[in-house]
Order: sequence, then C-alpha cells, then structure tokens
Amino acid sequence: MPNYIVLLGCPSAGKGTQAEILRDIFGLPHIASGDLFRDNIKHETRLGRLAKQYIDKGELVPDGVTIDMVRERLSQPDAKAGAFLDGFPRTVPQAEALDGLLAEFGGRVNIVAYIQVRNEVLLQRLSGRWVCRGAEEHTYHLLFHPPRVPGKCDVDGTELYQRDDDKAEVQAHRIQVFLKKTAPLIEYYTARQLLVEIDGEQPIPAVTEALRSAIEATMG
Ligand code: ADP
Ligand code: ADP
Repeated sequence: MPNYIVLLGCPSAGKGTQAEILRDIFGLPHIASGDLFRDNIKHETRLGRLAKQYIDKGELVPDGVTIDMVRERLSQPDAKAGAFLDGFPRTVPQAEALDGLLAEFGGRVNIVAYIQVRNEVLLQRLSGRWVCRGAEEHTYHLLFHPPRVPGKCDVDGTELYQRDDDKAEVQAHRIQVFLKKTAPLIEYYTARQLLVEIDGEQPIPAVTEALRSAIEATMG
C-alpha cells in the first residue's frame, strides 16, 4: 500500500521545513501546493497568472484549479509509493477530492499530522522567513535557522528573498483564512481517526522526531 501523509498547519507552522527532512528519511516526494503555484508563476503559465491574483492577497486559489494541479502531480511515477502533502488539502472540498484521487491510485490518507503553533510564534516565523531562488525553495529563518553565509542558500548558493505574501500586510489575513477555511479539516480528519497533533513549537529536530514516530506507527 502506498503511504500518503498530510501535513496540516497554519502558514509558517513548519510544514515545508519538516517535509524536506522527512522526504529524505522516508524516501517519499514532498508535494507542496504553494511550491507548485510559485513554479507556475515563475514560468508565467496561465495557471500561474490566475493563482498570483489570489496568492498576493493571501486568499486561497479556487478549489477546481488547485485540485487539478495536485492530481497531475500525484499521477507522476515518483508519487506512486506515496508522498508528503504540504499545504494540500486546505479546504473540505479539497479533502474530499483527495480521498477520491488517492482511491484511484489504490491508496488513502494514512495520517494527518497537525503541526500546532500559537499565533504569536507563527507571526515571528512568518516575518523572519527567507527562501532561496533555487528550484527547491530551501527555507531559512533570520533567527531560528539562519544560513551559513547571510543572504545565500547553504544548499545551492542561490540568493535568498522574502516572499511577497510573507510581508506584514498579508500575514494576519493568511492566518484568518486558515482559521476559516482550513481549520474545519481538523474535525474532518479527527472524525476519520487520522489526525495526530504535533507540538510545532519545539526546535526543528524535536518536531521531526515527533513526526517520524507518529508516521512510522501508521506505515504499512
Ligand atoms: P505557507 O507554507 O506559508 O502556508 P504556501 O506556500 O503553502 O504557504 O501557500 C502560499 C499561497 O498559495 C497560499 O496563501 C494560497 O494563496 C496558495 N495555496 C497554496 N496551497 C493552496 C491550496 N491547497 N488551496 C488554495 N490555495 C493554496
Ligand atoms: P510552512 O511550510 O508551514 O509555511 P516553513 O517550514 O516555511 O512553514 O517555516 C516557516 C519559518 O519558520 C521558516 O523561516 C522556518 O525556517 C522556521 N521554522 C520552521 N520550523 C521551525 C521550528 N521548529 N522552530 C523555529 N523556526 C522554525
């Protein structure tokens, strides 16, 4: 059976940071809907132009195009054994669509790890986040996870920049959008006995360990 693991959490809870580490531990791809959108924006595709209008305002991209984009990514050969899903699903219709999609691939969601971080900590994380311009978008934090050379990615040497939607005006709105549209997934997955809560305020390696043991317990 393939292993599909959903990482759920507010913007900046640490989903992407953890998914990158877990990808290497478990050998499953890291599929991040935000990265897929930013890649489309970089290449100026039609989807990229559409998505940008929503992302810049801190709104969610409509479910239909988001689901189609993730379906396409999940149907690629490297996702046949499973994947870490980061930032998808973000609404109840997306979660329902995901159930259908994975059933097509002979799988299902194994576990939903809800990475919990209080609001005041989230805002510190959002405002200090810098990401690299390389294809893999490695993530740093000015205080909590600084690069070895200021302004440069440790892994590929590309320049670091701050995402437009991480700037102060959009931040608070993204947290509100999470509470309204994404928080209902906590109930959705609790009802299906798939939700595991992870304390996301611990240092990065401690969060990884908590996730690793929760995930290992569910693997086939
Ligand atoms: P973060 O990691 O900070 O939560 P993401 O990179 O996941 O941010 O997402 C950035 C933006 O991309 C979101 O604010 C939203 O506009 C859009 N987006 C990402 N994933 C989804 C999704 N599943 N549904 C709708 N919009 C999404
Ligand atoms: P998400 O993908 O959930 O939006 P990220 O993984 O991009 O979150 O993390 C947001 C910011 O917080 C980044 O700058 C990252 O370096 C930092 N960060 C992630 N996990 C931790 C942690 N456990 N402690 C301190 N800072 C963290």
